[in-house]
Amino acid sequence: MTGNITFTMIKPDAVSNGHAGAMIKMIQEAGFRIIAMKKARLSPEKAGKFYEVHKERPFYGELCQYMSSGPIIPMILEKANAVEDFRKLIGATDPTQAEPGTIRALFAKSIDANAIHGSDSDENAQIEANFFFSELERF
Ligand code: ATP
Ligand code: MG
Repeated sequence: MTGNITFTMIKPDAVSNGHAGAMIKMIQEAGFRIIAMKKARLSPEKAGKFYEVHKERPFYGELCQYMSSGPIIPMILEKANAVEDFRKLIGATDPTQAEPGTIRALFAKSIDANAIHGSDSDENAQIEANFFFSELERF
């Protein structure tokens, strides 16, 4: 399935603001099929592991603290060209730079509380999906 799946997480700001339903609707209407989904909460240690690639960046501590501050909704999504198409749907990391109509333009508050995550490569999509879901949780 390489090339056809991506991993996403609705971040704590969007879950607590009640935007998850509207965001999932946009994701489905854009042609993504939900293979796995749950509500979860990361410990600071687990958030640190998930974002390990960013550990040298100045915002790493805040990012891990933020991502463990409340529940998240991780999902595995399927679609042709999933990784690239999903990053187009969510828009730029900084919501002030995100294209109008993208999920971050509509729902993100700031560069750190930016509503949603999207994998940046097929390889990372597999790693991130495996971080949250077993094979038995995928349908
Ligand atoms: P994500 O990986 O969450 O989909 P992204 O790929 O658009 O986002 P990355 O460069 O991977 O962006 O950064 C990971 C996350 O770290 C961002 O989503 C954002 O929450 C946070 N982040 C990135 N840059 C900054 C920054 N300059 N200041 C604060 N937080 C940042
Ligand atoms: Mg990223």
